[in-house]
Amino acid sequence: MSTYRIALMPGDGIGPEVIREAVKIGTTILETLSVSVFFEEFPNGAEHYIKTGETLSDETIEKLRGFDAIFFGAVGDPRIKPGVLEKGILLKLRSSLDLYVNLRPVKLLRGVETPLKGFGPGDIDFVVIRENTEDFYVDMGGRVDAFYPKVFEFTVKTGGAKGSKYRVEVESKDSEAFQIGIISRKGAERIIRFSFEYAFKRGMRKITFVDKANVLTDTYGLWREIVDKVKDEYKDRVESEFMYVDAAALHMVLNPKRFQVIVAPNMFGDILTDLGAAIQGGLGFAPSGNINPEGTSMFEPVHGSAPDKAGRNIANPIASILTFSLMLEHLWSRYGDKRLLEASKIIEKAVENVLADGRFKTIDMGGNTKTNEMGDAILSEAKRLVYSGK
Ligand code: ATP
Repeated sequence: MSTYRIALMPGDGIGPEVIREAVKIGTTILETLSVSVFFEEFPNGAEHYIKTGETLSDETIEKLRGFDAIFFGAVGDPRIKPGVLEKGILLKLRSSLDLYVNLRPVKLLRGVETPLKGFGPGDIDFVVIRENTEDFYVDMGGRVDAFYPKVFEFTVKTGGAKGSKYRVEVESKDSEAFQIGIISRKGAERIIRFSFEYAFKRGMRKITFVDKANVLTDTYGLWREIVDKVKDEYKDRVESEFMYVDAAALHMVLNPKRFQVIVAPNMFGDILTDLGAAIQGGLGFAPSGNINPEGTSMFEPVHGSAPDKAGRNIANPIASILTFSLMLEHLWSRYGDKRLLEASKIIEKAVENVLADGRFKTIDMGGNTKTNEMGDAILSEAKRLVYSGK
């Protein structure tokens, strides 16, 4: 591949401020390694919505398909009703590009404090892979009132294709609400296969598959059946185990060292990844990827637009810098270009060295380093690493 194409969508609030730092570091390091990258910025976000009434058009989605990755900041603005931008941009991207893998590395870096007493760097270092499209988030539910039958009809997207039809007839004597979760064979199999490939390619030896199959026996029973089928193909290479979600939450706090890769259906993954962000030191340090292994993937820091800190040059840019590094690691795994892996590792190491040094701390770390100062410190450490070859 000659030139990698990356779409930038800085979005709202602190998004543009933190994305700027990540791109500044990323471009310089890629340039020094002679990797050619083309960036194009997209304006989608609150300002664009206020001016044009458009969140994310189908034309833009089509254009984005022509990129290798999307580097995203955050959306959300106090002037706009909650949900409009999140649904119109973030969820639309996830669904149109079928970003079925949510990848969340949970690593406690040197120099960062965890709320877990007695644990340090090296004790917390695993990856959570969350299925991003199915389960209880398929938007299939309703409210029923007493004494009359009611029929609900749904057409839902499962395993990447829209088309499964569900018809629910309810006759109730009470006021009730229901929500249905779906696990499809295709949807589960693709995330489970991705996880084994991910672990194998990175020399990780064990995967923990999380569910609640002792109570939600149908959906997670199918999930387990597919794990059992796929794991045989990887035996001798990657071990696997099942764990109920309640036990997984307990172990993440009491014994996080036991995990290498955690794989979870959508809802449990959602909850466990926030627990993960907390034990790795907070939102300022949590990167994520929304991946379609065969298409254009999207990378974003876990935090939102943080309107309380926007425009003041005080946000912590580290989550977004680590997100850039994660994006390069993904592009390496997709295209096999070792320079991308090298750049990814240099950026992560530079972040870790600057944090371990302890002189630079943004407001969320109890210091007063500005966003751009943190970016500059990481950039100069990254350059030092490149030139010293360490
Ligand atoms: P959204 O609805 O966009 O998710 P939010 O305010 O609910 O916005 P976040 O934006 O993630 O959620 O912010 C939660 C808290 O964490 C806020 O107090 C915010 O200032 C803080 N925060 C989030 N990201 C950062 C960051 N990168 N640096 C410093 N503080 C941050």
